[in-house]
Amino acid sequence: MTAGMFAELIAALPEGRVVTNSAEVDRLSKDFFWYSPILERQLRDKVGEVAVQPKSLDEVKTVLRFAFGNGVPVTVRGAGTGNYGQCIPIHGGILLDMGGFDKVLEIRPDGTAVCEPGARMGMIETTARKAGWELRCYPSTVQKASIGGFLCGGSGGIGSITHGLIRDGLVISITILTMEPEPREIHLTGPDIFKALHAWGTTGVLVRVEFHLAPKFNWAQLAVSFDTFDKCFSFTEAVAQNESFRKRLVTCFEWPIPQWFTPLLKWIEPGKALVFFEIVDDQLERLSRAAESAGGKVAYSAPYSEPRRGALLSDYTWNHTTLWALKGDPTLTYLQCGFDPKRAREQMHQLKEKFGDEILYHIEFAKSAGVIGPGSIPIIRFTTEERLQEIIDYCGQIGVGVANPHINHLEGSGRWRSDDAKLVAKTAYDPRGLLNPGKMIGFKPVSESEPQPA
Ligand SMILES: Cc1cc2nc3c(=O)[nH]c(=O)nc-3n(C[C@H](O)[C@H](O)[C@H](O)COP(=O)(O)OP(=O)(O)OC[C@H]3O[C@@H](n4cnc5c(N)ncnc54)[C@H](O)[C@@H]3O)c2cc1C
Repeated sequence: MTAGMFAELIAALPEGRVVTNSAEVDRLSKDFFWYSPILERQLRDKVGEVAVQPKSLDEVKTVLRFAFGNGVPVTVRGAGTGNYGQCIPIHGGILLDMGGFDKVLEIRPDGTAVCEPGARMGMIETTARKAGWELRCYPSTVQKASIGGFLCGGSGGIGSITHGLIRDGLVISITILTMEPEPREIHLTGPDIFKALHAWGTTGVLVRVEFHLAPKFNWAQLAVSFDTFDKCFSFTEAVAQNESFRKRLVTCFEWPIPQWFTPLLKWIEPGKALVFFEIVDDQLERLSRAAESAGGKVAYSAPYSEPRRGALLSDYTWNHTTLWALKGDPTLTYLQCGFDPKRAREQMHQLKEKFGDEILYHIEFAKSAGVIGPGSIPIIRFTTEERLQEIIDYCGQIGVGVANPHINHLEGSGRWRSDDAKLVAKTAYDPRGLLNPGKMIGFKPVSESEPQPA
């Protein structure tokens, strides 16, 4: 961007919206990409030239109009908790930080929430609970993550065991702004929402979302330890599949993963496998008894109704597990895998046989397309890129799905749709390829004669 462009952008917006301080722009340009030693090397020096922090729809439109007119890339950021560089600008330009465009607009009596994109998931949960509802699913980054970032970069989380993943009917409608001479507001419903869901802000800027909540329950937390991972997994799987238990979280870990949960070490027994549950509170007793009958030992139990009241077991689950492990040993990394629900045990044994303790199991049970199965975010002892690729390739050979978190483009990261919905949307809504350029590698700008980002 030229000095003239900076001046034009600053003049077009209310005071304080444009951030030029380079340390702050650097900070806003980053997420948790460093979870991956490969992305750490590829993305560490990638930054925006300027950040803009809009607070309204009109301000977002002003930024997009300016960007289109000047051929400047725009990369959208929610809270920057993405874990594979989704909001890191590869081609400079504007970092559009949506964190201040953050109202929970409505919780309707039918359990529908309407929010601006920067609304924090924790704030939505608190607001919803006051009206008798709760989030269907949320990431373990609930306190920081924005609804826009979760829908455009996340997959599922706490609650997914009962309500499925984001893509399983959570969203009713999404409104996006296009990157054109005059940004259009496009209201997406039905299958069209996949044009924007998990699109990393490449197909439009999400400015409003309408989604389903679930009736509120009072939850309890339970941790149970087992002598072996096999026994732990069997019990975890049985509870996950047992619909008579109402659950929000079903996560198990093999030892030594729990050794990295330092704040919990006062009750974690060395050498044991662990399972964490969030279960509706009037079933806590029944679940504890069932765990003991299966050879488990109750290690911890506590009530849980809202975020931020005491220790939360969910702070150690989903991609927080990886964070705790990395704090303990920065040479570790991770994968995101989906086992075949019918062959999970066999697939896990095959991987162990081949890679031993290079792969450590952290299992998240979730419902996907109506089927409950074991997803996994295993911890990997990283040695070389080639070895990591061998593990990924072997997963493919034995039918374990991998959403590769070491790749920084949509097509390679595992959730690309065979109908090319995102590619079609990008061509229509961002013809010059200015939204998060470089993240959809199959896209070619519509008019090659137009100026493209460097
Ligand atoms: C410790 C840790 C735990 C995590 N746990 C989970 C988990 O349980 N489940 C899960 O699914 N993920 C998880 N993640 C990944 C991440 O936290 C979630 O995807 C989160 O919801 C992202 O929200 P965010 O607001 O930080 O988005 P960001 O990281 O800021 O953005 C994510 C993507 O969405 C795009 N985007 C953001 N806002 C908009 C918008 N308004 N319009 C268009 N595009 C937009 C960005 O460009 C980017 O590509 C975890 C990550 C970490 C580091």
